[in-house]
Amino acid sequence: MGRLVLKFGGTSVSDVDRIRNAAQHVKREVDAGHDVAVVVSAMSGTTNRLVEWCREASVLHDAREYDAVVASGEQATSGLLAIALQAAGITARSWQGWQLPIHTSNAHTSARILEVNGTELIKRFKERREVAVIAGFQGIHQETGRITTLGRGGSDTSAVAIAAAIQADRCDIYTDVDGVYTTDPRVVPKARRLDKIAYEEMLELASLGAKVLQVRSVELAMVHNVRTFVRSSFDRPEDIDPRATPPGTLICDEGEIVEQQVVTGIAFSKDEAQISLRNVKDKPGVAAAIFGPLADNNINVDMIVQNVSADGATTDLTFTVPAADYDRARATIEQARGTIGYERLDGATDVAKVSVIGIGMRSHAGVAAKAFSALAERNINIRAITTSEIKFSVLIDEAYTELAVRTLHSLYGLDQG
Ligand code: ASP
Ligand code: MG
Repeated sequence: MGRLVLKFGGTSVSDVDRIRNAAQHVKREVDAGHDVAVVVSAMSGTTNRLVEWCREASVLHDAREYDAVVASGEQATSGLLAIALQAAGITARSWQGWQLPIHTSNAHTSARILEVNGTELIKRFKERREVAVIAGFQGIHQETGRITTLGRGGSDTSAVAIAAAIQADRCDIYTDVDGVYTTDPRVVPKARRLDKIAYEEMLELASLGAKVLQVRSVELAMVHNVRTFVRSSFDRPEDIDPRATPPGTLICDEGEIVEQQVVTGIAFSKDEAQISLRNVKDKPGVAAAIFGPLADNNINVDMIVQNVSADGATTDLTFTVPAADYDRARATIEQARGTIGYERLDGATDVAKVSVIGIGMRSHAGVAAKAFSALAERNINIRAITTSEIKFSVLIDEAYTELAVRTLHSLYGLDQG
């Protein structure tokens, strides 16, 4: 008998029928003898609508009131699932973030969880075998007593934080896909579902564009060693054998993965933009003059490449920013032109970043070199490269994204069958 957190995303609770379906998944685990805490998202489309209403009311709105509005989506689902569970003969109670409580920072619209109090939940598991249904995505800032939300996709993070707080054996994320794939199956039909992936690899995948889980939830799972299982809520509850291992992907400590591959997955993102500064003075302080103002304006710089200066006097410097920040980044650099001193600014938004991830890279040489020749054979030009211990990324023309991803996917033996 164990203790589980089950999290249901928006598409898994999109209407009352789907909520009843979720209740059946919960019932199966309760019948198997587990203590169960459930974390729910808003019904799909609800949060978008609530966000839109805030904008309609006023484009510039108070972040505290935005949180009051958008947190309501999860409140509705938590009550509805508790009702559905009760109707199925299961003792259940809903909980809002402020009721547990889930304490967060004061950063409204993207608050961080500071502490989750799981005492009452555990007491009720023991005394009444009561299932807790917790509204995801929300918490409370203790000093002000106001409702906060955790940023879009935040109920994943709620689920992992609660699993850590109640020392759950596993956190099951029920969603509309049946696990984590080696890459996006819509781009590579031969993509394979991974049985297991290490926290660090998942963190890279999520940060680099895979949309299965909120990045923060993976960070939290890694810090607290919360084994997290991604599975589909569309598998019919009545067909599932509670003793068998269901299809899905376990995100876990690397020590739990016996057959570690060198490369685990390929991520890509088209939301990138490139800025190149030509003939920048090759002297101390120039990088600071460029990246200081960008940081001051909260623009995240990702890849940076500086060429070796040919004449000893000037050099070219290339970096990438999120496409959404491209115009701001250009304006920031142009404003600082006097202190930076460059001849020309070239920019491009039709670029994409393709990343190869695998813990095995730590102990294998030449992994990236293989990719460079494979891409060259396909005539794909590499504009910039970055590497770290367990991944490398290349910046290429956006038009070649799919070809590059497919090429690398088969190169590293990830193709199915
Ligand atoms: N409902 C929130 C959102 O759509 C939180 C979540 O579903 O994780 O972002
Ligand atoms: Mg989500």
